[in-house]
Amino acid sequence: MRRIWQPTDAFLLSAGAKGELLIARIRLLLTALLLLIPLNAYISYPDARENYVGIAVSLGSVAFALAVYLAVRREHHRPWLGFATTIFDVTSVSAALAAFMLLDQPLTAVNSKVVFEAYFLAIGATALRYDVRTCFLAGALALAQYMGIVAYADAHWDLNSPALAPYTYGTFEWGAQISRLMLLFIAALLSATIVVRAHQLRRLSAIDRLTGLFNRGYFDERVEAELSRARRGQQPLSLVMIDVDHFKRFNDRYGHAAGDTALRTIAALVRNMVRRHDIVSRYGGEEFVVVLPETSADAAVEKLESIRAAVEAAAIRLPRQQGSGSLTISAGVSTFPADGVTTDDLLDEADARLFRAKKSGRNRVIGRVPAPVASPAAVAPNSRSTAAAPRRERV
Ligand code: GH3
Ligand code: MG
Ligand code: MG
Repeated sequence: MRRIWQPTDAFLLSAGAKGELLIARIRLLLTALLLLIPLNAYISYPDARENYVGIAVSLGSVAFALAVYLAVRREHHRPWLGFATTIFDVTSVSAALAAFMLLDQPLTAVNSKVVFEAYFLAIGATALRYDVRTCFLAGALALAQYMGIVAYADAHWDLNSPALAPYTYGTFEWGAQISRLMLLFIAALLSATIVVRAHQLRRLSAIDRLTGLFNRGYFDERVEAELSRARRGQQPLSLVMIDVDHFKRFNDRYGHAAGDTALRTIAALVRNMVRRHDIVSRYGGEEFVVVLPETSADAAVEKLESIRAAVEAAAIRLPRQQGSGSLTISAGVSTFPADGVTTDDLLDEADARLFRAKKSGRNRVIGRVPAPVASPAAVAPNSRSTAAAPRRERV
């Protein structure tokens, strides 16, 4: 729910920014076209005062639409921009309806056939922002403002009096107004549903079906963003390649279904042992890659060492068979910026260390070996890790 309510997914944020640009173009075109109406009226009736008001309001709208378009086009997209433009779009429709009351045409304000429908354009367009909050904002604002207009008109005019005949837009009925309010509510709900569905589809496209971890495609997208963030914040970032040891043997012995269960068990173990914002993804068959932002080489190796020990100790349930099996993992850890500054460099280094972990007997973690430290007495005798731990074998 939180993910949907407050979108943080980079892909959807970028899609929302593109949607905002599309809406900005349409808004600019519409406001420019609407300017023609008071201009035309001015040519026909140059003395009418309301034409000046109309031209001034239309020019203001075009200026706002142009400013938003330029801001969005220059990629000055800010999350609040969607809220501001949503408020502007809905309020513009209400202002146009309210203008009929100023012109002493209250029945047009409450029964308008064209202007009222523009609410649906404003509410429908919010779906292009992929932010469910703007959908609800547009719906709530349209409902409140329109209800205010109808209540005001009903309170200040006798709407069905013969003075307002010939009722070009029909007479006034509360029943019809309530139906209109319901339609606005449904439109907002529909718009929000489209956004929620887009979030669900996006999630499905980023997830590996077997393990529930992120997939390779999502990893490729996110690792670059995380690396840029590390660069900007001058923070370390560790990247881990994990490979299950002798997995083919496990499959051959217990069958593919047991292998699948094993992959799920190991995936859940890794996921539960890292922080929420760490990115754990399935890189290939029985290989996983983990991005640990703001994590030094020592801290990453220490974390992986505890994961390695947890996998070694885990009992893997064997489906349709009695008892359980066990597996181990090997891992290679590389760290930004010491081991490289690009994703490829970091992946290559982690892969090379994983290879060394395999060659040196498996069930171990190899990370960056820091400069030698003074006291060998600090060595933990049974550690299988080469970095954080003192037995710093170079394999
Ligand atoms: P090593 O310790 O050197 O990594 O040996 P290994 O046997 O793990 O490596 P190898 O690359 O020879 O075999 C990997 C196996 O993983 C082969 C493949 O059948 C199995 N595998 C890959 N994906 C899946 C999967 O989704 N489910 C199951 N059950 N097995 C898989
Ligand atoms: Mg492998
Ligand atoms: Mg393997």
